[in-house]
Order: sequence, then C-alpha cells, then structure tokens
Amino acid sequence: MLDDYKDNQFVNYAKNLKKYFHAYLFEVDNLEENYPLILAFAKMIICKNHYSNNKQCLDCNICHLIDENSCENLKVVEPDGISIKKEAIQSLQKEMSLKSTNDLNLVYIIKYADKLNVSSANSLLKFIEEPENGIYGILITEDRNQILSTILSRCNLISLKNLGPENFSEEEIEKLINFLLIINKNKEEALPLVKTSFLDYYEKKDDIIKAFNTLEKIIDLKIQDKYQIKKITDSKIYDIIKASLNEIDVLDLIKYLDKLVKFKNKLIMIPNININLFMDNFIIEMSGFEVK
Ligand SMILES: [Zn+2]
Repeated sequence: MLDDYKDNQFVNYAKNLKKYFHAYLFEVDNLEENYPLILAFAKMIICKNHYSNNKQCLDCNICHLIDENSCENLKVVEPDGISIKKEAIQSLQKEMSLKSTNDLNLVYIIKYADKLNVSSANSLLKFIEEPENGIYGILITEDRNQILSTILSRCNLISLKNLGPENFSEEEIEKLINFLLIINKNKEEALPLVKTSFLDYYEKKDDIIKAFNTLEKIIDLKIQDKYQIKKITDSKIYDIIKASLNEIDVLDLIKYLDKLVKFKNKLIMIPNININLFMDNFIIEMSGFEVK
C-alpha cells in the first residue's frame, strides 16, 4: 500500500495527481526493493477503490490479483537474458489491445527499461506516443543514463534515487544555476553571452563533463523539490537549489535534464570533439529556438 510509505513524499505527489500521465519512467536505487512502491502506484491507477476513501484496500479482489501477479489489467515485462526483445513488446501491445472484461484502466510495467534495445524501444515508442485512453505505462530503471533518449524524452521522469551528499562548492552551484537561468530567460540572445561565460570557467572537455554532471544533479534536485518527492537534506547547497529556479516550469526542467544527458553522452562518446561547436549546439537545443 502506498500508505506504508509514509516517509516518502512521492506518495503525496501521487495522491495529488489530478490526471495520470500516459508514461512514467521511475529511476530507483534498487529495483526489487522499490518495486512494492511502484506496484502500489499501479494499484492507484487500476483499482477504483484504492485510496478513494483514504482506506487501505484490504478486501479488494483487484488488488489481491495484482499482488499475485494475475490481474488482467496489469502486464509486467522483464528482460529475457541481457535485453528486452522486440517480440516481448509486440506481445505486450497485442495483450493491451484486448479490452479488459472489467472496464478498469490497464497498466504495463517494464522492469529494467534500460535493457530495451533499439528495435524493442522503437516498437514501444509508437505505443507511448499514441496512447489509448485508459492505458498507462510505467518504466523502471536503476540508471536513467542508460535509457535511450527517445524513450527518456517521452516519459514523465520520477527519480526516487538518493542523491547523497555531494562535494559541490557554493560558488559552482550558483554559477551553474545562473547559467541555466540565462538560457531559460534570454533564449537565443543568450548564445554569445552564455557561451563565453561558461567557457571562461570550463575550458576542457573533462571540466565540461564535470559541470554537466553537477548541473544534472541540480536540475534533478529541483524536480524532486517541485514534485515534493522527498525531503531535501538540510545543507547550504540544498537551500540554494531549493530557493532558486522557481520560475522554471517543472516540464521545462524535465526537458532540460533530457537534453543535458543527451549532450553529456555525446561529449563522452566523441573523441576530439570541437568544443565551440558543441557548446553552440548545446545552447541552441537547450533554449529551443529554430536555426534558420
Ligand atoms: Zn483495490
């Protein structure tokens, strides 16, 4: 039951959801340990009694069936060996297309979604992009950096990972927050300004990767803060992050996070990358303006 997770503010988020998104990506420290929480969330979507009266759903047949993994409204896909095969996604789609006999929502869970390969991810993408009424997807991973970016950008990312104490310097945090704010506020006019101010501090590829990692943590914490997912540890650094970036919409933060991860991976993968050109493209993508 979600109520068992009193310490986890994700519960508040889930309970306050007015409308469910069609696809969620949960990032957790340990998939099996966190699975009961995610299953409880699936129950919320499927079971009509669940939490509607703030009572636990002890005698509900649907919830029992979900616990026994024999509920027709819930399908769970797991990797077969090292990957999730295309056939598994296709058979999931076929099952999902059959009407349930009870008229309740359908939920599919994909465990270890980082194990989707390109072809199984492509099959899934169409499914996520053209969602049918009453069908909801929950993807779970222990590392969202391993998720194909096409998938990542189409899911509502909920990170329940413990970020742990970090060795951030206040100065660096403020610098990077400012960098993000300028991008968000000035859009294309930001290009020359942001680029020089960023490259003044981070010249080399390794420095930029480090800065991107820190920026990723900042955005991550801010998204958690906005979703009220968990209490942010009391520290000066967290206070700074909590107090800033409030003008940026949470959906934009998710978009920034997605692009940041994509560009960071590009930077890591490509040897001898042209840093100037890379930063141009990064800022153009982040500020989302069309190149003529
Ligand atoms: Zn129930």
